[in-house]
Amino acid sequence: MQHFPIFLDLANRPVAIAGNGPFALAKLRLLLKTEARLHLFAAAPEADLLALARLRGVTIHDRPAEAGDLAGTVLAYAAHGDDDADARFAALARAAGALVNVVDNLEASAFITPAIVDRDPVTIAIGTEGAAPVLARALKSDLEKQLPQGLGPLARAGKLFRPMAEALPQGAPRRDFWADYYFNTGPQVLAEVGEGLLDHALRDLLDQHLKAEPPRGRVDLVGAGPGDPELLTQRARRLLDRADVVIHDRLVPAAILELARREATFVAVGKEGFGPSTPQDQINAVMIDHAYSGAHVVRLKGGDASIFGRLDEETQALTEAGVEWAVTPGITAASAAAAAIGRSLTQRGRNTDLRILTAHDIDGFADHDWRALARPGAVAAIYMGKRAARFWQGRLLMHGASGATPVTCVENASRPDQRILTTRLDRLAEDLARAAPLGPVLTLFGLAPAKAAATLPALLEEFA
Ligand code: SAH
Repeated sequence: MQHFPIFLDLANRPVAIAGNGPFALAKLRLLLKTEARLHLFAAAPEADLLALARLRGVTIHDRPAEAGDLAGTVLAYAAHGDDDADARFAALARAAGALVNVVDNLEASAFITPAIVDRDPVTIAIGTEGAAPVLARALKSDLEKQLPQGLGPLARAGKLFRPMAEALPQGAPRRDFWADYYFNTGPQVLAEVGEGLLDHALRDLLDQHLKAEPPRGRVDLVGAGPGDPELLTQRARRLLDRADVVIHDRLVPAAILELARREATFVAVGKEGFGPSTPQDQINAVMIDHAYSGAHVVRLKGGDASIFGRLDEETQALTEAGVEWAVTPGITAASAAAAAIGRSLTQRGRNTDLRILTAHDIDGFADHDWRALARPGAVAAIYMGKRAARFWQGRLLMHGASGATPVTCVENASRPDQRILTTRLDRLAEDLARAAPLGPVLTLFGLAPAKAAATLPALLEEFA
């Protein structure tokens, strides 16, 4: 892009046109659309040029421009249609610090004037870097046909009314009001009664929208999966794409949040390891407040919302508040960890059940049916097991589990920084302490990675 399009404020600023003929007349007509202070330099101006300039209050200089005439000039158009005269004027204007356009001379011009579709204050500028004026004209005439003539008056009245519309809550209610104005009420009023009554119509419409039932918000509780954006469901992506508000756990990585609507409000809640956490009541209140304001809320949770995600507490609060909700499942950390090591979580002849357990609950280390887990072949996916490793290792050994039982810890499953630690039950606590994982860890008790199977014949035999 050699020429960068901008919209220049010309209100009350001097703009000079030099020339006496059809080029100067065309530029004058164009610039009369602006609020610039126009100066015309034309010795013995032609009749139509003079008439238009007089009629519209243009300052007429009945002679060529001289140094000193152009001080403070913002834009200068050399429109003589004569190379020498244009070059002389352009040099003066440049010296005065003006941006210069020489008509039909791209090289000598500091800027070019685009083809313009004018529905002031809606203005569309079309440029082709001088490559294809025909194309620019074709595009202009297409757009002229597409954009209703009323767009200008509609937008003018709308612009003046913007401060008033702030009486409506931001987001959906305000968007709906403007959509109603620009696409229904506005064009209708304009066609039936004219521009003069647009302001009235806006006031009535605002009253209607202020009185209307607030649009009903809703909450989608969405599983974000283990971290890899590719492991989001299509529905999760679609919901993120439409969300007004995204309330997310700290486990949800930036790469996933970036898929949400850019204008969405993001609220980070929840726990970071043992760090500060947002009380559940507060999370519920944030969801409900946003839903009451009419927002479409996505409550985004790591993995699957129904696994150690306090889902029922949130849906119950929503139900009690009368807020509509639905759950979108996600890929849980156990599935991602099993995929990472290429092993099945269940296997014919080995384990017909799979335990999904947390090493922690609200009271501290969580107790389980250790005896059942200690049986050969048992498999468990242990969430939040990092800190409690020594505790559950001790319990299992005490209840008769073999010290040689394979244990695999998958840190940051599915993320670029994924790490796999393979160990056995009797060495778990020390190996884990040495690996010192910083990210979330899913521990697969009773499973070793498929790749490593060949190097672990003893274990293979035990679980064959
Ligand atoms: N609802 C989540 C679990 C939330 S509890 C799910 O279905 O996965 C938080 C625990 O999940 C972490 O302590 C860790 O054990 C596990 N976890 C979540 N994401 C993980 C990941 N990408 N890699 C490994 N473990 C993960």
